[in-house]
Amino acid sequence: MPFERNVDQRAVYQEPGPLMDREHDNPFQSMMEQFDEAARVIDLDPGLYEYLRSPARIHITSIPVTMDDGKLKVFEGFRVIHNEVLGPSKGGIRYAPDVTLDEVKALAAWMTWKCAVVGVPFGGAKGGVTCDPRSMSPGEIERLTRRYTANLIDVFGPEKDIPAPDMNTNEQVMAWLLDTYSMHMRRTETAVVTGKPILIGGSEGRREATGRGVMTTTMAALDTLGLRPSQCTVAVQGFGNVGSIGAQLLREQGCKVVAISDVTGGYYNANGIDIEAAMRYVETHGKTLEGFDGAEPISNEELLTLDVDVLAPCAKENQITGKNAANIKAKIVAEGANGPTTPDADEVLNANGVLVIPDILCNAGGVTVSYFEWVQDRQGYFWTKERVNRRLDRMMRTAFDKVYEATQKYDVPMRIGAYVIAIEKVGGALKLRGIYA
Ligand code: NAD
Repeated sequence: MPFERNVDQRAVYQEPGPLMDREHDNPFQSMMEQFDEAARVIDLDPGLYEYLRSPARIHITSIPVTMDDGKLKVFEGFRVIHNEVLGPSKGGIRYAPDVTLDEVKALAAWMTWKCAVVGVPFGGAKGGVTCDPRSMSPGEIERLTRRYTANLIDVFGPEKDIPAPDMNTNEQVMAWLLDTYSMHMRRTETAVVTGKPILIGGSEGRREATGRGVMTTTMAALDTLGLRPSQCTVAVQGFGNVGSIGAQLLREQGCKVVAISDVTGGYYNANGIDIEAAMRYVETHGKTLEGFDGAEPISNEELLTLDVDVLAPCAKENQITGKNAANIKAKIVAEGANGPTTPDADEVLNANGVLVIPDILCNAGGVTVSYFEWVQDRQGYFWTKERVNRRLDRMMRTAFDKVYEATQKYDVPMRIGAYVIAIEKVGGALKLRGIYA
């Protein structure tokens, strides 16, 4: 059998992090503003504030790779450990031409808050290599991955720091990382990465995990507002991993999904869209909805402002902005994507009484099943998909309730409530452990 190299496959699980769109608002800047507001709400000690903002360790490494033409090229790689107070650090590795240390630092902090909000016992980390994977061959990417791993062999480890896929890395890249680490350790160490193929220790249910979390938190929000799923209409922006599965599961719960969209535009059907048919269409039509005839075409902008109960932005950052926020009619915004709402839009949505389930909570289903993957690898015992889903639902519902409780206690929007929970958890753990000196 030829040795298959699936480097072109998309990451089935993208570890959460704000996408950096340099032309628009910087999502990390927005995130830090929200963090600052939460810190003010709970009157955070200035020393603790300083501590929580600073990464614990930064690793920078040069990665020499022999390219296919025989020439030697050196790439720059990073791994930032933001915080390890709650457990080993966890975070994806991205390969992209514009990866910078600042970006990786930002993404590592984001992971700390995300894990803390859903109650996953991990700290935050992130890695990156400045390279252009689209212009590299599978062999070059493999050599880059193996050398990056070897250079950081003392950083990674199931009890230390656990990478996962992120932008332009996938299951195959994780498999190479696992193999390189295992060769150095002289034993197979599956728990060193998550987001790997099921055949070598990946978890059932991981592919659907983020969309499933969007569904669970949306159900919890409907419950909170006293709305029944069977009476609710939903519009979903983005029909990739998160959006399509989120839409399918919301439909399964009885909601009527009246609009979906992707990069080719929006599709509306007042009687409800057959999501399975749309998924099949995408599979057989070049991965897009273009030409889908189960609905009327509308624009993405129209989709966002439809008169629906739930709007789930599951595409990309900066979609609900100061320009369109006042026209949003949904009662609930479920942020499947990272950073889809800008801070000025947030103000408008809050003033209009829209319940926003913040990204840091809403799309944390993926990192939760990543945690399950690590647990299963360490147990050497693998769960059924039903067990994974049951436990995921429970953790997401508990996280929603805790955030909502904080929201009520401090009279703040859910986004700030989520940061309050994260700060209280990480800060509380640090106080118990004390400062080692
Ligand atoms: P994906 O690449 O599978 O899908 C993205 C979808 O958005 C595609 O259908 C694409 O056509 C569509 N899209 C792109 N630009 C659009 C636009 N301007 N208008 C409407 N649709 C547009 O990506 P994904 O894995 O589903 O991730 C979506 C978002 O969720 C990202 O913000 C990602 O960071 C976040 N997220 C993903 C995961 C995960 O597990 N996949 C976890 C946490 C967060």
